[in-house]
Amino acid sequence: MNKQAKIKSFENYIFNANKIILTSHARPDGDAVGSCLGLYHLLLAEGKQVNIILPDSLPDYFSYLHIDNLITFYQENPVESLKLIKNADLMICCDFNNLDRAGDLGPALKESKIPKILIDHHLDSKDEEFDLVFSAKVSSTCEIIFDILLDTKYINNDINRLPYNTAEALSIGLITDTNNFNNSCETRTYEVASLLSKRGINLEEIHTQVYGNYSLNQFLLRTELLKNHLVINPKLHLAYMILTKDLQNKYHHKSGDSEGLVNIPLKITDIQVSIIFTEKEDKFSVSLRSKDGFSVNDLAKKYFNGGGHIKAAGGKIFLKANALGKYLTDSFEEFIK
Ligand code: 5GP
Ligand code: MN
Repeated sequence: MNKQAKIKSFENYIFNANKIILTSHARPDGDAVGSCLGLYHLLLAEGKQVNIILPDSLPDYFSYLHIDNLITFYQENPVESLKLIKNADLMICCDFNNLDRAGDLGPALKESKIPKILIDHHLDSKDEEFDLVFSAKVSSTCEIIFDILLDTKYINNDINRLPYNTAEALSIGLITDTNNFNNSCETRTYEVASLLSKRGINLEEIHTQVYGNYSLNQFLLRTELLKNHLVINPKLHLAYMILTKDLQNKYHHKSGDSEGLVNIPLKITDIQVSIIFTEKEDKFSVSLRSKDGFSVNDLAKKYFNGGGHIKAAGGKIFLKANALGKYLTDSFEEFIK
């Protein structure tokens, strides 16, 4: 299907739906939430009944928008979430490439027979799970959504018709998924930022909300990790940190508190790959970042039950903390051979 036909199909799905649900992946980040929120305000303006259902809670930096009450969290409200899914007639999935990435919410999304639209910027989307797929390898899902909306009859290439709240939400995804325009930006990414700014969005203010609003505990956790728990392997150009339960408890760590921290060791000239392991109940979640063209997507797929993008990927591993270092080094050496 060409782009124009896809946009038409998107408009038709929306025209034929009254109750629309928007959803995204587990541990939703700025792009996941920004995507859902951006679509939410647009669809609301089109007179639809819209609900955002997310697997679990938001990063703290969304608190300034006071949106918690707009969202149903499956973890807190499974019954209500299932009811909303059951009553909906269209589902739009944002920023993940298959429904398994929605954690505990995944099975309910899979079982639902309503039409499903996927909008995502990861590689290898599982297209058979969806009725309409918008997939492009660009900075963020928010960038894709911006370009879709611009082409629809709702906006018709007139940036001033884009609801302000939509523009604001999409800006957050653009900023966070590029680590404030540090990576994954093409010319179009900057053009989109410029158009969002033209719409009246203060990108500088969003930057302050996202990157300049740490709690003291959050700040101290970051400094302690970097000072006392950063392991550097100069031979492999690799750096990693382990965020254990003990450290999490010491600093009252909440989901999202360490977002972005994994980027910092990449500032070291010779470090190409940076990884942070975060201890969960029964496993470690893994967050990987790289530079110089090293594909952490492949590394995450092969050794960490995950995936993502070339420069940013994630996954999980079922090992004890004291076994992680050796597993990582062995895997890494095998991988680069
Ligand atoms: P983060 O490190 O911020 O959690 O994730 C970085 C990137 O990797 C994101 O684009 C995210 O969607 C992807 N990612 C994170 N965890 C997983 C996972 O468990 N599986 C897959 N396939 N991708 C993941
Ligand atoms: Mn994303």
